[in-house]
Amino acid sequence: MSERKPVVAANWKMNKTLAEARDFVDRLLPQVEGSRAEVILCPPSFALPLVAELCKLDAVEVAGQNMHFAESGAYTGEVSAAMLLDVGARAVILGHSERRQLFGETDEALCRKLPVALEAGLTPILCVGETDEQRECHETDRVLRRQIDAGLSRIPDERLAEVIVAYEPVWAIGTGKTASPEQAEDACGFIRSLVGARNAQAAAEIRIQYGGSVKPDNAADLLGREEIDGALVGGAALDPDDFAAIVAAA
Ligand code: PEP
Repeated sequence: MSERKPVVAANWKMNKTLAEARDFVDRLLPQVEGSRAEVILCPPSFALPLVAELCKLDAVEVAGQNMHFAESGAYTGEVSAAMLLDVGARAVILGHSERRQLFGETDEALCRKLPVALEAGLTPILCVGETDEQRECHETDRVLRRQIDAGLSRIPDERLAEVIVAYEPVWAIGTGKTASPEQAEDACGFIRSLVGARNAQAAAEIRIQYGGSVKPDNAADLLGREEIDGALVGGAALDPDDFAAIVAAA
């Protein structure tokens, strides 16, 4: 088992009212107390202050699901790094495939967002992953290389290990189709080798999660792999018992 601390994050996407968020946190906290894994909750931004407040005495962090690279300005609907920090976030998901596919998130924008997040004091969780078609055309490595090169291009070598990378094959997100532990480990290992081409120490330390239909019944197989340092969880993270079971498997 590697010395890297596993990190399991719940991406709620556009789900949960404040009452539902409160109920989730109340039921989750007693179940993850003392867990080996770092636990992060990523609620929609309107619920961040509440969830951060509810978690403040526990070892559970909160994170945004996106942010803009600018400090402030005429960017309707966006939030800045400082705003996320202000409401208690300690991390931010960047480049989720839903942002890339549905909202036009580009590698160019991500290359600007990551250093801004890091310099502000937020841990960036950079999501990368290939589509079904790209995997079938044997383009997985090429796509991962492009996304990693762009996302990390402005992060200095000595800070690379502070980033969390989430390998999330697009074909496995919300589909119930999970990458096999071998497929997930190969891709995470490839991502680590890309980081290693820049800095060997960073490659040994950087945490690489798997995401894509992780459930309580497949979590142990995936998270038991040497190259996989935790999970980014969507659907199963809407239920506190399921999410706690995944945290326990990490
Ligand atoms: C995600 O949205 O990051 C995700 C992995 O979703 P799901 O677990 O539902 O596939």
